[in-house]
Amino acid sequence: MDPIAYVNGSFVPLSEAKVSILDRGFLFADGIYEVSAVLDGKLVDNASHLARLQRSVGEISLELPESLERIEEIQKELIARNKLESGLVYLEVTRGADKGRDFAFPKGLKPTLIMFTSVKDIINAPSARTGIAVITVPDIRWERRDIKSVALLAQVLAKQAAAEAGAAEAWMIEDGMVTEGGSSSAFILTQDNVLVTRHNSNEILPGCTRKAVVKLAQERQLRIEERPFSVSEALAAKEAFATSASLFVQPVVSIDGKPVADGKPGAMTNRLREIYIEFARATAV
Ligand code: PLP
Repeated sequence: MDPIAYVNGSFVPLSEAKVSILDRGFLFADGIYEVSAVLDGKLVDNASHLARLQRSVGEISLELPESLERIEEIQKELIARNKLESGLVYLEVTRGADKGRDFAFPKGLKPTLIMFTSVKDIINAPSARTGIAVITVPDIRWERRDIKSVALLAQVLAKQAAAEAGAAEAWMIEDGMVTEGGSSSAFILTQDNVLVTRHNSNEILPGCTRKAVVKLAQERQLRIEERPFSVSEALAAKEAFATSASLFVQPVVSIDGKPVADGKPGAMTNRLREIYIEFARATAV
């Protein structure tokens, strides 16, 4: 069955879902995106994703064409139309299609809003049991990584380098410290059981899963330090893991071919994954 997508007010078969070649998302990457997980046919932590969407569009002075309430209704309708039980809903809003290609914002343009879904068994992903390998690459992105912009070429190149090295993710390095993964937040658990993840700033995307995991860990009295860490600190750590809407909590078992601890998923990582899944199920809408 051809999946159903949403394009500017209409639900259409994915193969017929089209936008103009003059769309500013296509010409300038002048747009914002969000990805929410779906479990049991329901949206996971979606309020957090919509709040980040609103912040991101605000930072580039782009007005959403629909209210957040309506956007969530559309997400839900798309899930229902695709009979999606487990997977992802992708949404993108761009500044729209003008009559030509002017860099400055054209006046009176209606933003483009598109959504589509993909099937993914997030809970039973084999990599959650085996863990994933990561490589490191220089972080060559711009200075506003807190905005969830569709300009992802640096991450495309980073993740392609990872794929070519047989790894699932690239950890990006700036000034000798890990910023984050190409499409995930990075965590380590130190030998004295402190959970470390970089603090939010313009240098990283404020991950929704990161935020939830930090809160869930705090509620369980785990010690947390929000600060940068280096690759050598990660290699000397007890455990390492990545978080994102499409991975939840995913063990990282090697970095640049060197094992983290014994090269197996850590006990705390596995526990945090279970806790996150419980939270995701209990709060999904
Ligand atoms: N960091 C980057 C650069 C990302 O692209 C993503 C997700 O795509 C994340 C972190 C994780 O964010 P979230 O947990 O909201 O999916």
